Amino acid sequence: MDNTLQPFQLENHAAQGRLVRLGDAMNQVLTAHDYPTEVATLLGEVQVIAALMSGTLKFDGVLSIQVKGEGPVSMLLVDVTTDGNMRGYARFDAEKLQAVSENKGDGPQQEVPRLLGNGYFALTVDQGADTQPYQGIVQLEGATLAECAHDYLRQSAQLDAALKVVVSQVNGEQGPTWRGGGVMVQKSAFSGFQSIDGEATDAEFEDAWRRAVIFLGSSTNEELLDVSLHPHDLLFRLFSEDGVRAFDPSSFAMKCRCSADRVRNVLVSFPRDEIESMKIGDDVVVTCEFCNVDYRFDVGQIDTIFKESAAD
Ligand SMILES: [Zn+2]
Repeated sequence: MDNTLQPFQLENHAAQGRLVRLGDAMNQVLTAHDYPTEVATLLGEVQVIAALMSGTLKFDGVLSIQVKGEGPVSMLLVDVTTDGNMRGYARFDAEKLQAVSENKGDGPQQEVPRLLGNGYFALTVDQGADTQPYQGIVQLEGATLAECAHDYLRQSAQLDAALKVVVSQVNGEQGPTWRGGGVMVQKSAFSGFQSIDGEATDAEFEDAWRRAVIFLGSSTNEELLDVSLHPHDLLFRLFSEDGVRAFDPSSFAMKCRCSADRVRNVLVSFPRDEIESMKIGDDVVVTCEFCNVDYRFDVGQIDTIFKESAAD
């Protein structure tokens, strides 16, 4: 049970939620580039948040989260399809990052103000060519990316929610690998709330919601990262007091959507002489920012691409 999204609902219907566990799907994204640990951790957190959001917002297409900052880390981008294909990359300034690492005692200590600074957290849902993309944005005001995601849910999605996110390197059989985990609860509508003894009151409902948030907070980083702990067992451990029901899980995988065809389409959008300046040696090399795969075209292939596009 790895790389999974496990939806659940409390038996009293005060809240519903999701548990996310990412192994390979995260490790492959974070090791595609040579990221410093702090940058990889931030990007991994965005992956967990995107996974949680993908189970929260109904969509058919691509959900992406883009975090932009003015600090050493200038961009974190993760997208996930309805089928659970994930990819992502980060942009950072190595010198600025080193400067804040060396002055650890000075300035803000929390990850968002320290590494990203001022900026925004944007969530976009793209459901295909004939539809209007949806986008919601919040300023980066939280201390952590989980707090920024919480701000997003409250301000932009108008959801009462709580979430916990953890990313870490763990020692596996093949050396250290990146793992991530997260859990989120969102408040359900009062109308569905079921009291244990007869008539449900608003106060009981609020108490039940507060308990759900407290139980979520009682989860430990070790539990969220432990691949040997079945998601059901973790949920029952956390929410046993009110009872919890688990629904069918879905899965995630690291899968990029780049292809030679897509790169060709991008190349023909440039003027021919600009293509010359993209040459490395004799070839034009285009590297996918997400998966770091190189697409290489020799002079003959470039000529063919432009001839074909002129003929269209
Ligand atoms: Zn790619």
